[in-house]
Amino acid sequence: MPVPQAHAGRPRRLILSVLVLLLLPGAAVVWLGVQLLSQDRELEARQRDERRESTADVLAAALEQSVATSERRLRAGDMTWAAAYRDTVALTLRASGVDAYPRGRLLFQPRLPAGDAGHEDPGAFANGEALEYRDRNLSAAAAAFRAAAVSFDPHVRAGALLREARVLRKMGRPDAALTAYREMAQVRAARVLGLPADAVARRTRCALLHDLGRHRECDSEARGFLADLLGGTWALDRGTFEAYLAQAERWVGSPAAVPPWQTALGAAAEWLAAHPDRDAGRQVLTGAGVPVALLWQRVDGGTRAFLGGPDFQRLEWFEPMARRAAARGFRVALSAADDVVVFGDALTGSAIARRRSFETGLPWTMLVGDDGTAQDGSFASRRRLLLAALALLMAIVASGAYFITRSMGRELAVARLQTDFVSAVSHEFRTPLTSLQQFTALLNDAEEPPAAKRKQFYEAQARGVERLRRLVESLLDFGRMEAGARPYRREPLDARSLAGRVTREFEREAAALGFTIVLREGAADAVVTGDEEALSRALWNLLDNAVKYSGESRRIEVSCERDGSCVILAVRDEGLGIPKDEQTKIFDKFVRGEASRTRGIKGTGIGLAMVRHIVSAHGGSVRVRSEPGCGSTFSIGLPAWTEDAPVSSAG
Ligand code: ADP
Repeated sequence: MPVPQAHAGRPRRLILSVLVLLLLPGAAVVWLGVQLLSQDRELEARQRDERRESTADVLAAALEQSVATSERRLRAGDMTWAAAYRDTVALTLRASGVDAYPRGRLLFQPRLPAGDAGHEDPGAFANGEALEYRDRNLSAAAAAFRAAAVSFDPHVRAGALLREARVLRKMGRPDAALTAYREMAQVRAARVLGLPADAVARRTRCALLHDLGRHRECDSEARGFLADLLGGTWALDRGTFEAYLAQAERWVGSPAAVPPWQTALGAAAEWLAAHPDRDAGRQVLTGAGVPVALLWQRVDGGTRAFLGGPDFQRLEWFEPMARRAAARGFRVALSAADDVVVFGDALTGSAIARRRSFETGLPWTMLVGDDGTAQDGSFASRRRLLLAALALLMAIVASGAYFITRSMGRELAVARLQTDFVSAVSHEFRTPLTSLQQFTALLNDAEEPPAAKRKQFYEAQARGVERLRRLVESLLDFGRMEAGARPYRREPLDARSLAGRVTREFEREAAALGFTIVLREGAADAVVTGDEEALSRALWNLLDNAVKYSGESRRIEVSCERDGSCVILAVRDEGLGIPKDEQTKIFDKFVRGEASRTRGIKGTGIGLAMVRHIVSAHGGSVRVRSEPGCGSTFSIGLPAWTEDAPVSSAG
C-alpha cells in the first residue's frame, strides 16, 4: 500500500525559493522601470529647459523687432500712427516749446529752459502802471490800460486787460472787472506772466466770482474751466496744472478723475526734458505704477519722442509676443527695472528663463515660464507605455505569488492530511492487534479456559482477523484506485440482492453493538452493470460510517429503489449529521470531519473517497443530504442496466 509520507518542510522551502526567484527579478525590473521613468522625467525637464531658453531668445528678438519698427517710424517723422492708440503721444521738444500730437493728451508739459518770458512788452504798460502805483489815479490808470487793450499784439491786449481788470477791482467795480476778464479770455494765443492768457483770465474770473459769493456762476464757470484743463487745452507746466486743478476741484466741490496714464505721460515728458544729454534711447518709466514706454531721438534743434502708455504697449508689443509664447506652450511676462511685473501674469517657480534688459537692450526684463499645460506628447505616451508594462509585470508577479502561495497552502494541507492518515491507520491496526494479542495470551494460559469461553475467544480472534483483513484490503484497494490500477468487472447485478447480502453480512457485526438495520427494497426492477465486489465495498463503507457516526442512535435504514433510469442505493442514519461546509469536502481523500476528531472516532479518511471513486467508475454519483444532529443520508445513484449496456468479465 502506498502510504503517503508527510514532508511539510520540503514544499514550503520549494515554494519559498520559487517565490524568491520570481520576486527578485520582478523587483529588479520594477526598480529598473522606476529608474527609467525618473531618467525620462529628467530628460524631459532638460529638453523643456532648452525649449524655454530658446523661446526666450525668439521672443526677445520678436520684441526687439516690434520696438525697432516703432523707432523707425519715429525716425521717419511719421507721427500719425501714434494717434491710433488711446494712450500715446508724439512730442517734439524744442527750446521754443513742446509740440504734442495728438493735442490734448498731455495735461502738463515740461518747463523748458528758455521759458515763456519775453512775450510781453513792459513798455506798453509803463504809463498805466505809473498812474496806478505812483499817482494812485485809478480811473486814469484804467483808461490808460483800456487804451492799450486795443493793440494788435495779442500779448499786449491780454496784458492790458489783465491790468485793467485789476484796477477795476481796486476801484470796487467787480462787474466791470469780470467783463474785462471775459474779454481777456477771448484773446487767443496770447500769454501773460508766462501762462496762456485765456487760462489765466478764466481762472481769475472763477476766483473773483467765488470771492463775491456768486457761487452758481462760479460753479458753472469752474466746470467749463475744469473740462478744458482736463482736455489738455493749455500748455501748462505741472505745478500750474496741479494748482489750477486743485482750485477747480475746490470750486466744483468734487475731485476730478484724472486717468493715471495721462499723468504718467506728462511725467515721462518731464523726464525726457530733464535728460537732454542722451541722443537717442528707449526707456520704460513706471511712475504711479503705470508703465510708459519712451522712445526718443535728437533731431535738428530738439528732440523727437514717442510716449506709449500701457494700452499701446500691450496691444502693439506684448500681446503679439504672448501669442507666440502660447503657441510654443509657454507664458511670458515683462517686468520693469524694479522686478515688478507690468505685463502678463507673475510667473512663479524655478523653471523661468530670464532676459535682463542689459542682455537684450530692451527696456524690460523678460520672463518666460511654463504655461502649466504643456507636456511633451512623446514623453507622456512613452511613460504611459512604461507604466502599463510595469503594472502588467507587477500583476504577473502578484498573481504568480498568489498561485504559488495557494498551492503551497494546498500542499501543506495535503501533507497534514497525510500525517493524520498515517497515525489513523496505525491506530486502526493497533486495536485488533491488541485484542488478538490478549486473546492469544488467554488461550495460551497454563490454566486452559472452559470450552464455552474458548469458543468465545476464538470467535473474538476471528473478528479481529476479519477486521484486519478488511482494513488491509481496503488500503490495498485504495492504493490501486489511486494508481488507476483497479480493474472493474461489468456484469449485470441485481442491486436489491447485493444490498440485501451486504446488509445481512454487516448486520452480524452491527447487531453486537445494538444496531437495527432496516432494509427497504422498491418493487421495481433494480439491475445495474458493475463490479459486485467494488459496489459491495462502497455500500459497506457507507454502512460502516453510519454505525461510526450514529452517536446515541441505533437505527440504520438501507434502501434500494429504481428512479427512472437510475438505481439508488441509500444508507440513512439518525446520528450526528454533517455541517454544510464539510459536506463537499468529506469525499476528498484523507479528509475527516470535525466531529470525528472531537469525538475521537476512529477512521482513516479514505472511506468516502473510495465510495466516490467506485461509483464514478460505474458512471454514477454519490450524494449526501444531512442536517447536524438529525442524521445523514448517503445515496449512490447508478445507471440502470439496459440490454445494450456493454458487459465485460474483467473490466
Ligand atoms: P473516516 O475514516 O473518517 O470515516 P470517511 O471518508 O469514511 O473517513 O468519512 C469522511 C468524514 O465524513 C468522516 O470523518 C466524518 O466526519 C464524515 N462522515 C462520513 N459518514 C458520515 C455519517 N454517516 N454521519 C456523519 N458524518 C459522516
